[in-house]
Amino acid sequence: MRIIIHQIGKLNHPDVLSHIQRELERIISLPCFVDEEVLPLIPEAKAGERYNASIILHNLPVKGDRERVLGICDVDLFVPGFNFVFGEAQFMGPRALVSLFRLYPQFWGEPPNDTILLERAVKEATHEIGHTLGLRHCPNKRCVMHFSNSIWDTDIKSALFCPSCEAQLKKNLLREG
Ligand SMILES: [Zn+2]
Ligand SMILES: [Zn+2]
Repeated sequence: MRIIIHQIGKLNHPDVLSHIQRELERIISLPCFVDEEVLPLIPEAKAGERYNASIILHNLPVKGDRERVLGICDVDLFVPGFNFVFGEAQFMGPRALVSLFRLYPQFWGEPPNDTILLERAVKEATHEIGHTLGLRHCPNKRCVMHFSNSIWDTDIKSALFCPSCEAQLKKNLLREG
């Protein structure tokens, strides 16, 4: 099993891909690569100023059956029924998506801060990849699988799995072989 990271459209923070790659490898213990090919933001996903996360997600290219594909974009994402989402993923499926758009401190009226942005991006990326590996939302507020309803939830949780999610992840990865 390996994780492939794809840039989708233009990113305002160029270092984020290699940072997510290194941290995911450390946290999930799977080989992780950044694909050089930048995918276009598909126009069908655009709805006013925002983009439909589900449409972008389903269009992520998957090349092998033993990989997870993580798309990173920088546009405001929504799914029908939710005003905005930080990301989306296919449960036990190959595709995950995260947007940086609402992870910048300046989006929330705070001064720009690369460290905070990168921490948030790693948490959301780990969370969405966790769903693709069969993890559901966790009640533990410090666990990376806790649902982020707001950026404050993201800041409270750590980038790591709680012992229970960690054990489930190991079990699921063993089953995948
Ligand atoms: Zn989730
Ligand atoms: Zn947990």
